[in-house]
Amino acid sequence: VLRAGHRFFASAAAPSPVAAAAAPPKVKLLIDGQFVDSTTENWLDVVNPANQDVLGKLPLTTKSEFNAAVKAASDAFPKWRATPVPTRVRVMFKFQELIRANMEELARSVTMEQGKTLADARGDVFRGLEVVETACGIAPYMTGEMVENVAGGIDCYSIRQPLGVVAGICPFNFPAMVPLWMFPLAITAGNTFVLKPSERDPGAAVMLADLAQQAGLPKGVLNIVQGSRDVVNWICDDPAIRAISFVGSDSAGKYIYARGCAAGKRVQANLGAKNHAVVMPDADVDSTVKALAGAAFGAAGQRCMAISAAVFVGGFTDKWREPLLEAARGLKLNAGWEKDADVGPMISPEAKARAERLIASGAAAGAQVLLDGRGVSVPGYERGNFLGPTLLAGVTPDMEAYREEIFGPVLSCMDAATLDDALAIVNGNEHGNGTAIFTRSGAAARRFQNEVDVGMVGINVPIPVPLPFFSFTGWRGSFAGDLHMYGRAGVQFYTQTKTVTAKWPAEDIRGISAPAATTS
Ligand code: NAD
Repeated sequence: VLRAGHRFFASAAAPSPVAAAAAPPKVKLLIDGQFVDSTTENWLDVVNPANQDVLGKLPLTTKSEFNAAVKAASDAFPKWRATPVPTRVRVMFKFQELIRANMEELARSVTMEQGKTLADARGDVFRGLEVVETACGIAPYMTGEMVENVAGGIDCYSIRQPLGVVAGICPFNFPAMVPLWMFPLAITAGNTFVLKPSERDPGAAVMLADLAQQAGLPKGVLNIVQGSRDVVNWICDDPAIRAISFVGSDSAGKYIYARGCAAGKRVQANLGAKNHAVVMPDADVDSTVKALAGAAFGAAGQRCMAISAAVFVGGFTDKWREPLLEAARGLKLNAGWEKDADVGPMISPEAKARAERLIASGAAAGAQVLLDGRGVSVPGYERGNFLGPTLLAGVTPDMEAYREEIFGPVLSCMDAATLDDALAIVNGNEHGNGTAIFTRSGAAARRFQNEVDVGMVGINVPIPVPLPFFSFTGWRGSFAGDLHMYGRAGVQFYTQTKTVTAKWPAEDIRGISAPAATTS
């Protein structure tokens, strides 16, 4: 059961805009096991993107509060590190049970603060929950290696040990999943954690931390600081923090990667994306169009694995154009909690204005706007940040609308004569997060899988996000670092290898293992 004060709506049964009518609650910090109000004088609004209601007040954590959070994590580390792995795992077993029990309330928080539909919000929680489930089975990932007798009577073995205090910095677009990509594995591996949720939608992270405390996490093992740039800089600079996990945009991520690495930390940074679908002429029209529409426009295009460019081998002909237009037109824009919503609002008026500007820039550069989502109005939610599904055709790699990540419900359709030409487009883009090929040809798929310079590949699967026993393997401009998030690589990121070379001289056995002759 979630404790009062951490939810941003009055009634779990009625997630309506009315809930925001009371004075907006203050978003808490979690320091040394206590949910506390910040003493700061600087607060940001947490805003419902469907109607601009203020759902909560987010504190810009003060330096002394930040220091207290890091100290709590540092103080908690020795005992937590010494806690047996199965005991740490049992907290995760309980945690996953509590997440399941509170799934609806978590999903409603995501919908209210982030805007996505309730179905997408449940997916947001569920994909994070799967990482918690994987953390329950962390022991095999923690094993070391051993070679016996590397020299006469000498054995050599490696063990994995936690780093200490580690930190996570999160984006707005998956407010439940991304925190769960980070702290469950880090903590179960024996680290203590300082989490900074997105300042736009911190509610799910606070609720999850509440559940983690209830699951039995000792005080100080997980701490939450709220805020934006200052707190991020403090995380990068604090010598007690040994590693940073970041998910977000290119500009913030590259900055954090450079600053964190300069301070001697490990940093793993998942960055922006431009994900291409390559559509072969032999692909099944119905299922491909359905997949493209869902992957491009679902969650208002605000997924790092959204398909934002579709490259049609043989050209974007009527065979594709008409059904894709029909599928896009059929999507219903509405507030995420409304039953018929397919596409919710974008996160902010600024994000919407930027996407609109990029659509205009595409049109000015010669792209055809086949379907224009600008200027839509959603009855009852006229103040929402809605942008309708938008289809651009004739997009070329030189256009700004192609080069920039739009991060909205906009699909750029491109033409390629051959699979080679399509591969050249995909591999020529600076980002390498995800991609997909749609085809009935195993040979084409195999060639694509082998030659595409992108880290996550779907074959007739539009959004190939790996399950958490694999890792989230974005490449090139979509990732900075070398150990990816979750899976085996995630555990490696949060642990360091110690290698022991041991010699136990045989004569030491004398005296503790008496010869049989002397005892009989
Ligand atoms: P963002 O970079 O604006 O914010 C992410 C975090 O960085 C926030 O916690 C924010 O407070 C902090 N931040 C932002 N600007 C900063 C600055 N100048 N200095 C210090 N800290 C700063 O990202 P966002 O808009 O919240 O999220 C959307 C972006 O995240 C998109 O680019 C999307 O592709 C990317 N993303 C990537 C993945 C992935 O796995 N590759 C997953 C989700 C989102």
